[in-house]
Amino acid sequence: MSQNQTTLSELPVFTGGEWKRPKTERWSNVYNPSTGEVIARVPMCGAAQVDEAVAAARAAFPSWSNTPPPKRTAVLFKYRALIETHFEELAKLVTRENGKTLDEARGDVRRGFEVVEFACGIAHLQKGESLPQVAENIDAVTMREPLGVCAGITPFNFPAMVAMWMFPIAIACGNTFVLKPSEKVPLTAIRLAELLREAGLPDGVFNLVHGGAEVVDAICKHPHIAAVSFIGSSRVAQHVYSLGCAHGKRVQAGGGAKNMMIVMPDADPDPTIRGIMGAAFGCAGQRCMAGSILLGLGAAADPLQRRMLDAMNALKVANTDADPKAEMGPVIDEAARNRVRNYIEKGVGEGAKLLRDGREGMPERGFFVGPTLFDCAELRMSIAHDEIFGPLLTMIRPKTIEEAIACANRSPYGNGATIFTSSGKWARQFSREIQCGMVGVNVGVPAPMALFPFSGWNQSFFGDLHVQGTEGVQFYTRQKIVLSRWDSEYRRQMGW
Ligand code: NAD
Repeated sequence: MSQNQTTLSELPVFTGGEWKRPKTERWSNVYNPSTGEVIARVPMCGAAQVDEAVAAARAAFPSWSNTPPPKRTAVLFKYRALIETHFEELAKLVTRENGKTLDEARGDVRRGFEVVEFACGIAHLQKGESLPQVAENIDAVTMREPLGVCAGITPFNFPAMVAMWMFPIAIACGNTFVLKPSEKVPLTAIRLAELLREAGLPDGVFNLVHGGAEVVDAICKHPHIAAVSFIGSSRVAQHVYSLGCAHGKRVQAGGGAKNMMIVMPDADPDPTIRGIMGAAFGCAGQRCMAGSILLGLGAAADPLQRRMLDAMNALKVANTDADPKAEMGPVIDEAARNRVRNYIEKGVGEGAKLLRDGREGMPERGFFVGPTLFDCAELRMSIAHDEIFGPLLTMIRPKTIEEAIACANRSPYGNGATIFTSSGKWARQFSREIQCGMVGVNVGVPAPMALFPFSGWNQSFFGDLHVQGTEGVQFYTRQKIVLSRWDSEYRRQMGW
């Protein structure tokens, strides 16, 4: 097969540099969430497909890992240029299969693009250390070597960015790679693979398989995969972490989240509302860094509630594929829409005040649910502690900053939390006492860029080394230390 694979309705796999018909008869639908139409059929592969992909990746490893870093990055520099050339096309593809707005899709591609740029610097990032004369006549040198075949398993919500958190750094370090994108959004991954091939990546260095639980388990158990990067829900992250580790792999597994936003009475109103709106309803609330709990303190709460309702009523929810003015799109599928609707019902049942009901006034076609606001909620309610992953914002009214921080720290997750304030004292107290890995001060979505690790804690991350930044490089390499002795006494003893 050749040409643009994303135009085919029955999607291929990519192994050993070739597009192939998958080894399965089981297929699943890929939808355009804005219309509910089926736009492609994705193969639900099994262990045999993983075997084929891993065999291709293993065969490519000796030559690729031995290729000098500047030659490896020459491919990544070309890839960077190709992504720039195809930027709008990639963003449109993300919108089409994921449903986020075109602007959000551009952000998705841009954040991935930045990781490619970071990986272009691998010749510097992968350097080891040295210390001559570490002991009498002994010199020490460390080397960072690639691991072998690495695999990546990604969620539906960032079809471009999350895949690019993984493979650019992995292959830049000299590994070969097998990617398994979410079966809900396989098209962007296929296009990213086509562009890698066009950039001149040797056959087998990057491979692509599709499917769900079966193929994921086969990856976690495969004897010739050295490391697994996973991003998705906490339940599956924990499963992948346990299974991968039990089979001797290095695993990094990002999970779900429930992120809190504290608004102090001295917060600057306009940027605060803009920050909260973006965090709660950007990508229809389907971000692991989405702000889903709003903690309005004391006098801040009433005006905050009024201004939020005004902003939510003004938000244009529409078909993102057809309407460039859409400000919020649908959720990914019917199950996701039903889950949000069920939580609205649960919230009412649990006694929270429903101030705006996203079940009302939505288009018939597509998987839409509008921005929803609950007030006067309590932490014991399911809407306050479960990850709902949709445009549902729950407001709680703590009396003091200590109460607000304690409330945030009771979450079992640990991705992000934000404070909106004009006070350095409160900002500092919050930054020091909050128990999560990514902290925002007047920043709605404190998601770090490619140079820094994506630092989830607790149930939001299983493993030791996160994706992105120098932790990403450490994850995809292992250290070797060489101690050398070449002094004249040694040579004499050896009779040289
Ligand atoms: P998901 O866990 O349902 O799926 C993620 C991946 O796991 C997919 O590739 C899927 O095919 C596979 N999978 C699903 N069920 C499986 C099972 N039982 N066994 C093995 N594999 C399985 O997640 P999703 O719905 O695609 O994505 C949304 C989730 O991802 C949210 O919880 C969100 O918070 C999280 N997320 C986390 C981060 C982060 O950095 N921590 C980033 C983005 C998304």
